[in-house]
Amino acid sequence: MIHLKTPQEIKTMAEGGKILAEIIKKLSEAVKPGITTQELNKLAGELILFYSEKEGGKVKTAFLGYGDYPAHVCTSVNDEVVHCVPSGRELKEGDLISLDMGIRYKDFYLDSAVTVPVLGESSYDMWSKLNPKLHRLLEVTKESLGAGIKQAKIGNRIGDISCAVQSVVENNRFGVIRELVGHGIGRNLHEEPQVPNFGVVGEGVKLEEGMVIAIEPMVALGDWRLAKGADGFTYKTKDGSYAAHFEHTVAVTKAGPLILTKP
Ligand code: MG
Ligand code: MG
Repeated sequence: MIHLKTPQEIKTMAEGGKILAEIIKKLSEAVKPGITTQELNKLAGELILFYSEKEGGKVKTAFLGYGDYPAHVCTSVNDEVVHCVPSGRELKEGDLISLDMGIRYKDFYLDSAVTVPVLGESSYDMWSKLNPKLHRLLEVTKESLGAGIKQAKIGNRIGDISCAVQSVVENNRFGVIRELVGHGIGRNLHEEPQVPNFGVVGEGVKLEEGMVIAIEPMVALGDWRLAKGADGFTYKTKDGSYAAHFEHTVAVTKAGPLILTKP
């Protein structure tokens, strides 16, 4: 069953989304050589506490304890695609890290992800020039998310979003992950409908005013097939190629798609 949200509920979700965007921005800024992914998780916990105190206890962690997941944030590095548990792993210059995080704000969940390079002395521009393929992987994944979001309009179908994402990715000859999909979101972290990153225009659930969905392309430099890590959480690319993941929580409104998880 799809739970439609009222304009007031979407307004509340947008308030929470702004907080999540700030937290993810601060986490991204903390990414540097030598930091461990567990330290990033600790920072995520501190940021949740900071915003919770600021908002009278209205901000809560969302991933910790969800299906036994043991952390606030997923920290997936290089060929790890999603759901990697923070650990003592030290980030190295040139790694790619995906930070995927959710919070609960008032009664509603928000979910968002970014992928960033681990920069040492070099600037992002320098990194881009030295690593054109990885840079393009990030840009194309972001672009595919943007293309999917544009289709989140009343009267369109889920397949329109899926196809838009897939087209951008495959036109650039990258692999779009199929085993994992985006999802409805609201009073639950995962609600109906599923939002695959591949599909056919005009197929699937019709989008209605008040639907809120997490659109989240996961893209591999090589083949899209996944292998599950020994910890039971991590998904990696089977061929070992690097992957990227960008996600926004988006509302379908009369005024068009509304990105809730932006600063
Ligand atoms: Mg997520
Ligand atoms: Mg999600």
